[in-house]
Amino acid sequence: MEILFLGTAAAEGIPSIFCRCETCRRAAEAGGREIRTRCAFLVNKHLMLDLGPDIMFHKLHYNLDLAAVDSLCITHSHTDHLNVTDLAFRACPVFAHIPNESPLKVYANKKSCDRIRDGILLEFSAPEHPSLSVIEIGPGSVIESGELNVTAFRAVHDQREDCLFFLVEKGEKNFLQINDSAQPCGEFERDLARVLNGRKLKAISMDCTHGREKGSRGHMGVEENIALKKRLLDAALADKNTLFFATHFSHNGHSLHSELNEALAPQGITPAWDGMTLTI
Ligand SMILES: [Zn+2]
Ligand SMILES: [Zn+2]
Ligand SMILES: [Zn+2]
Repeated sequence: MEILFLGTAAAEGIPSIFCRCETCRRAAEAGGREIRTRCAFLVNKHLMLDLGPDIMFHKLHYNLDLAAVDSLCITHSHTDHLNVTDLAFRACPVFAHIPNESPLKVYANKKSCDRIRDGILLEFSAPEHPSLSVIEIGPGSVIESGELNVTAFRAVHDQREDCLFFLVEKGEKNFLQINDSAQPCGEFERDLARVLNGRKLKAISMDCTHGREKGSRGHMGVEENIALKKRLLDAALADKNTLFFATHFSHNGHSLHSELNEALAPQGITPAWDGMTLTI
């Protein structure tokens, strides 16, 4: 399984679009891994987790064939994860020309589905389009996408909707994506154990919005990532071979990549960067 970290920033990106803060100034000056676009993942070139406002840049920068994406799983309706304007441009023909097209399957919670239908309505004067198959899911939903199996879990993020995160599996291989969530709720270990059925996590990516600052409701930082790693090890859901990553960083975490690395690497956690590829 190959996972491409398309972007590793929180909603406003780093440097943040209109910001003059010290972190953004230092990031812009340093360039390279300090430059972070909005968080999303591409798995095995055909499954996407979230489609945010940087999708056009991601396509160009990574030379992606997005027509090859057949499944899109949306974590929640926040605009850094669901860009309905660009999603509507998947509509064939006119916006896209894809020979022998199959509709893109979009899996999302109710609020996200409503936003997608509104976006389609805006473009096409009907809330549906044959190029987009919009499927409502919730915690516990299981999705099949070719060789990949995806299970949705309940995130702790925004009480106005059922925010989700996803476990992607290919046989014995797996990758757990937890961004836009505080520490998962009490039943998390039980639910994850049921899906893993004795297997261990191979790789996990954790929300680290707050960086070295104290976390708040709905997100995590370095301290919470360390605590979550311990939870997974204590529950025997992870072991010494599990790869731990942090992502979804905000400028309000006041941390450059090197500083995040200083805080996380001794704990066996790698801060991700835009364009990082993980093969498991
Ligand atoms: Zn976010
Ligand atoms: Zn800033
Ligand atoms: Zn969010």
